[in-house]
Amino acid sequence: SIPLGFFGGIGAASKSGILIKGSNYLEALNDVKYVVFDKTGTLTKGAFKVTEVHPVLEGLDEQGLLEIAAYTESHSTHPIAESIRAAYGKELDETRVEGYNEISGHGVQVQVDGREVLAGNAKLMERESITYIKPEAAGTIVHIGLHGEYAGYIAISDEVKEDAAEAVRNLKQMGKTTVMLTGDAKAVGEAVGRSLGLDEIHAELLPQHKVEEIEKLDAKKSPKEKIVFVGDGINDTPVLARADVGIAMGGLGSDAAIEAADVVIMTDEPSKVGTAIRIAGRTRAIVW
Ligand code: ADP
Ligand code: MG
Repeated sequence: SIPLGFFGGIGAASKSGILIKGSNYLEALNDVKYVVFDKTGTLTKGAFKVTEVHPVLEGLDEQGLLEIAAYTESHSTHPIAESIRAAYGKELDETRVEGYNEISGHGVQVQVDGREVLAGNAKLMERESITYIKPEAAGTIVHIGLHGEYAGYIAISDEVKEDAAEAVRNLKQMGKTTVMLTGDAKAVGEAVGRSLGLDEIHAELLPQHKVEEIEKLDAKKSPKEKIVFVGDGINDTPVLARADVGIAMGGLGSDAAIEAADVVIMTDEPSKVGTAIRIAGRTRAIVW
């Protein structure tokens, strides 16, 4: 039978907007050693603003490049895609788009007006042997390839969440090691991770690499120590499932993320990870 105190803990957590799917997860939160965060949508808002549109193809202007990018991103639920569509601002004529293909951790590939278009990061350009510009611009760069040629790039930037720095500081004070994983470029990942004071930062990771990072931590720690992973469910459901306690951002997250997670933070605030750990500690004090 489940000790009564656990119901108190689960109830207290739910009042704070934290849904814990079982007493075993509340128990595991007491032994957390590593708190691993995904970047986009977890530590950052995941609402990118377009800061620069840079066409390079003959006859293609800024509005033209933004239009191609918006059509290329028309079927993606990634925050990058939503931001590019918002910057374009016009209704999309779906009949112009065919053959949508999402390349995990890289970007997307579709046919727009019968022409093959790619939108994604440097890795995607390298994979397709397209020579691209490496701009000095800070922020995430989305490169656009148009039937095998480089069409230009769009620079976008995200903001850290209001409580992200405090969330990391509190966890470190509680003696936890904080880690950030991201599929984004090294320069962006390190700028965000350093500004928030994370202990470890790992960038340019594909979803399977994120699982490998969890496995590396697993090999380092003692069997009793637990690993928490906190993500928004976009490109990170395998990691949510692999961690001892997978925590999903409930508001931003996909249904699949909420399904894969052991704990759901309804308010999307990373500081709620510390709240959940504190509630777990108080619950243990009551139970034993
Ligand atoms: P994070 O680890 O920061 O949450 P993801 O794993 O979701 O990021 O994505 C990694 C990288 O893949 C992004 O930074 C971006 O460069 C590229 N990418 C993913 N999806 C898209 C998309 N729809 N359009 C353009 N680029 C994308
Ligand atoms: Mg992500």
